[in-house]
Amino acid sequence: MSADCLILNRDGRPLSFFPLSVVDWHSAIKLTLNRKVFVVKDHNDWVVRSPSMALNVPSIIMLSNYHHLKKEVKFSRSNVFSRDNYVCQYCGKKFPRNDLTLDHVIPISKGGDTSWENVTTSCKVCNNKKGNSDLKPLTTPKKPTLKHMMRSYLDSSYNFKDEEWTKYIDID
Ligand SMILES: [Zn+2]
Repeated sequence: MSADCLILNRDGRPLSFFPLSVVDWHSAIKLTLNRKVFVVKDHNDWVVRSPSMALNVPSIIMLSNYHHLKKEVKFSRSNVFSRDNYVCQYCGKKFPRNDLTLDHVIPISKGGDTSWENVTTSCKVCNNKKGNSDLKPLTTPKKPTLKHMMRSYLDSSYNFKDEEWTKYIDID
């Protein structure tokens, strides 16, 4: 899916952050055709045409009604990478997502669980080296706050289709 359009809740903040609430242009146009959303901003110079009409592709849309959301950051592979800024917690280097893996600080075989507190980001090389050893990660893993996650979003090389999206992703 290409991230063409940002979806905002009625309060002007993204509907979700992790992952960011985005849809491709096709879905964005479909959503605007039913009345549950309205367009905040169209993409400049992006019009799709059919034989009978031309439509602007929206860049930012907002739900007409407020949706109550969970404030917790869900535990997932990509959220762990995001928490750790794609930095291997053993060698301290940054890697593309495909070169990273999740590492259990206390191995499952020794009673470790799969949780924010026991799972960290590791490159594949360090992960192999570590094996079942007691090597400690550079930072002690913990459950991230929304604020922390938002900051890593803004710091990461996350590609925003439209610069204006950053206005809606505030840290406080
Ligand atoms: Zn590493």
